[in-house]
Amino acid sequence: MSARDPDRLDHGLVLGGGFAGLVTARVLADHFEKVTLLDRDELPDAPDHRKGTPQGPHTHILPASGFSILLELFPDLEDDLDEARAPAFDWTRDFIVYADGFAPRPESGLRSRLCTRKLLEWAIRRRVRAISNVELVPEHRVRSLITDDAGARVVGVATSSAEERQGRVSASFVIDATGRTSRTPRWLAALGFPEPAVDVVDIQAGSATQTFTPPTDDGGEWAALMTRPTPENPRQAALTRIEHGIWRVSVDGISPLHPPKSAEGFMDFLRALPYAGLYEHVGRANALSKVVSYRNNANRWFHYEAMPRFPDRYAVVGDAFFHANPMYAQGMALACQAGVTVRDELVRGLSESSSPLDGLGRRIHESLARAYRRLWLWNICAELTWLPSSSLHRERPFDLVRPYLQSLRRRTREEPELQILALKITHGVLPLEAAFAPEVVDRIAQVEPDLVGPQIRELAEAAALDRLTAELSQGPGRFESP
Ligand SMILES: Cc1cc2nc3c(=O)[nH]c(=O)nc-3n(C[C@H](O)[C@H](O)[C@H](O)COP(=O)(O)OP(=O)(O)OC[C@H]3O[C@@H](n4cnc5c(N)ncnc54)[C@H](O)[C@@H]3O)c2cc1C
Repeated sequence: MSARDPDRLDHGLVLGGGFAGLVTARVLADHFEKVTLLDRDELPDAPDHRKGTPQGPHTHILPASGFSILLELFPDLEDDLDEARAPAFDWTRDFIVYADGFAPRPESGLRSRLCTRKLLEWAIRRRVRAISNVELVPEHRVRSLITDDAGARVVGVATSSAEERQGRVSASFVIDATGRTSRTPRWLAALGFPEPAVDVVDIQAGSATQTFTPPTDDGGEWAALMTRPTPENPRQAALTRIEHGIWRVSVDGISPLHPPKSAEGFMDFLRALPYAGLYEHVGRANALSKVVSYRNNANRWFHYEAMPRFPDRYAVVGDAFFHANPMYAQGMALACQAGVTVRDELVRGLSESSSPLDGLGRRIHESLARAYRRLWLWNICAELTWLPSSSLHRERPFDLVRPYLQSLRRRTREEPELQILALKITHGVLPLEAAFAPEVVDRIAQVEPDLVGPQIRELAEAAALDRLTAELSQGPGRFESP
């Protein structure tokens, strides 16, 4: 290929240095001569909080699927986690979960580490920074996209630095990983492209977090204590042990509750939880930080996969494409899985085409959307518990699968295998088809036979689930916040 060949993988550009951006930069580095990652923030050499990720101080529990991807891409990652004494844990054995009673604690094999987001992100960032063909460029805000003369393909971005110096960065492929405040819809509109349809389901949940020094007798053999909300008491809380022996407590309140903002309000919230044990533990600890709160917890899906026109050589990944209510603890794993999707689609393009970058953005979006359709169905069926008057209860595909999935979720409290299955689906270890496998359907049929008809049994087949979920990509904005 000549130096001017537009198909040459000479420069990959990643916008945003959060989880999706870092993992994507890592995978692009195996194929592009050079990779640049731009972030509006400083990208510190220490595990410090960044203002570009305001969700950072809140509990971030890494799903096992994300952890295994990170270990594959960064095999020595645990060195930093060991050094900081970030606890290793099994997602079911080491969690005490209260949901109308205590959930069983089987060993699931779903392993991860408990730590702050800032520690994990820094451990990844310093490994990405050490890759010889990757350059991290902090304090550069992306302002707009630049296209070729025909306006068909993205060839770079316009930036401004912390000192308001304007600049341009050219690239042969650009990936937006700027998170839930991504400006891609506006950047596209400025270029004459349509904006993506957006689905929003918002139960108006808010989070508040505080850290504590544990008491000398710190409560026993668990990594985390969690209490789930009920319709009568829509309060959730999680106490997790994180690095350096610290306790972090996050609470989530669902509308009409608001997350507390003061230390006093925080303790009042804990006192009112469905499970009193969590309050008792925290009551014996000493506060280490102020209470911080966060309100932008809606589920949002920007339908980039369904756009009639979209510029080539450009893709959107991570929270910028799809973000779920953080009460499900999925986002970091989805960001890691998006990086793997970018890698897999690029490798496929390289093996099948002499122009591997042509159509790559579209292929990435379609592949991500296939997983997002299933996850949206699974998550929103759970969210509807909090939206009893939503019209979605009566709409396809929710009307068909929700009663069945709700029953499955209820059974998780008594059947450890179903508990592990549900967790694997939530975290993307298993696809949603697994919820409709014959042995699972038979178990639900034993207790609630009315919920199991032939249409439910069919969904064990990927093709049947593809057909059912296809209409979830047929916006525009069908699921405006009820
Ligand atoms: C309260 C809360 C709790 C959560 N808890 C969990 C959890 O327990 N487990 C879990 O897996 N996930 C959790 N998440 C989700 C997780 O935070 C996100 O899903 C994850 O960070 C997404 O990664 P990302 O790279 O797409 O975006 P981010 O990590 O948000 O990164 C976006 C990056 O883009 C940069 N940026 C933005 N705009 C520009 C621009 N114009 N130019 C340059 N740079 C820009 C930002 O500075 C930032 O560095 C939680 C989220 C919230 C809100």
